[in-house]
Amino acid sequence: MTSSSTNSRRTFAIISHPDAGKTTLTEKLLLQGGAIHLAGEVKARGQARRARSDWMKIEQQRGISVTSSVMTFEKAYDGETITFNLLDTPGHEDFSEDTYRTLTAVDSAIMVIDAAKGIEPQTRKLFEVCRLRSVPIITFVNKVDREGRPVFELLDEIADMLALDVSPQMYPVGMGGQFEGVLDYATGTVARPEGGSKEFLGKRDADPAMPEQFAEEAELARMGYPEFDLEAYRNGDLTPVYFGSALKNFGVEELIDAIARHAPPPRPQPAGEEQVSPTRDEVTGFIFKVQANMDPNHRDRIAFMRQVSGTFKRGMKLTPSGLGKPIAVHSPIMFFAQDREIADTAEPGDIIGIPNHGTLRVGDTLSEKNEVRFTGLPDFAPEILRRVQLVDPTKTKQLRKALDDLSEEGVIQVFYPEIGGQWIVGVVGQLQLEVLVSRLAAEYKVDAKLEPAPFATARWLSGPESALDDFERFNRANLAKDRDGNLVFMAKSPWDVNYAQEKNTELTFSATRER
Ligand code: GDP
Repeated sequence: MTSSSTNSRRTFAIISHPDAGKTTLTEKLLLQGGAIHLAGEVKARGQARRARSDWMKIEQQRGISVTSSVMTFEKAYDGETITFNLLDTPGHEDFSEDTYRTLTAVDSAIMVIDAAKGIEPQTRKLFEVCRLRSVPIITFVNKVDREGRPVFELLDEIADMLALDVSPQMYPVGMGGQFEGVLDYATGTVARPEGGSKEFLGKRDADPAMPEQFAEEAELARMGYPEFDLEAYRNGDLTPVYFGSALKNFGVEELIDAIARHAPPPRPQPAGEEQVSPTRDEVTGFIFKVQANMDPNHRDRIAFMRQVSGTFKRGMKLTPSGLGKPIAVHSPIMFFAQDREIADTAEPGDIIGIPNHGTLRVGDTLSEKNEVRFTGLPDFAPEILRRVQLVDPTKTKQLRKALDDLSEEGVIQVFYPEIGGQWIVGVVGQLQLEVLVSRLAAEYKVDAKLEPAPFATARWLSGPESALDDFERFNRANLAKDRDGNLVFMAKSPWDVNYAQEKNTELTFSATRER
């Protein structure tokens, strides 16, 4: 490992299907990193949960994690301190845009798979997002302390379903009732459970004396799959596979060591044709998330910036692309597992929270010279559309303000139809609608109901001006503007989209829009 501070950052996320063990693994990673110091596991759980949701009122009320946040922890390796920035993605089943955007801010990911279930739908969706950006993946097959599927079957399923080379780094010695521990190929040692609880107490057995059947299988698995290849991993073509139990703390240390050793340090980020290198002198970064602060009476928000280049110093002036004039960043926040702290400096790969009153929007670039524009942060065509109906019609102004605010935060998308005054909101997952209604009431004192909209999906329109004008003239009833004034085709069905596209070959009907 090099000693440059840029190279000591590992900014990553965990992708998984609900219940695979992401929360449990997160807690164990934080414990490993020394970010949480305590005795009992139950307490650890409570504290970790609280740490993350303290300032998210809505999370507390609902008892679920609806927003991503950042957890930073450090671990020393051969005299060098590695800083891990773990970006949390919403644990709920609803597949939100937040998750996509968070994945644009990481350099690598851990894919957690339940040993009894293999690749599940959401694992796969999230994997595809990572693949789009060639985000390298380390796989953690979790819950090997329970009865799981045969190891070879799991490895083959990952390889086949994700079209990815797999390279096992460990081998579980039995699963479920026969679980004996986990063999680490690199050291040839087996981490064994001790005592009745089978809790791993740090005992590593140099002479594994494995049951013969497992020794043979382990060797077969090692021979039957490709060897680890750093370049193939970093290109997103190969995934090293670790086995373990987040619950019993098996394989977690090996996993974190793998991130330190193999996961890429901050990668260059796309800005149009250009790639902005972390070694660029100027401080640059982009906002991938905006979160309302815990106090609903103050419309304070925190914009999360992924730093791309330069050395940030507290008080520095940065220009947000959406504003055009510089702001001084006096109270940048860093997120340690249990605390938020004011950051004096930050490096590429770090995430800093910038408090603001709505000046910073998702997708904004921040930079010293105001020359770079980061690209690739997507909006997705909504899969659920609803009309917003005010209970008290005198609150129109407040509603408009709220919808604009919340769409800037990325909670919802808002569409203003060309005909008729009823605004339409669009989301990717049902949960976003519930968040919308409760936040309208709590933060904006607006009572609103959501009604079915006569549309099923939306597409952003682009093309030559004359073709757009023509299309607009004849399709006014199906057109709306988004919050930035972009023309959007509102379709009753996917079939309508295809039909309109076939009839208007000059136009592009896009299911995503880059901010
Ligand atoms: P998430 O939805 O992915 O965040 O999953 P959680 O971490 O909340 O875990 C879901 C359930 O699986 C919980 O009941 C955990 O206690 C359990 N679990 C997580 N990891 C393991 C493991 O390694 N072994 C076993 N047996 N159970 C686990």
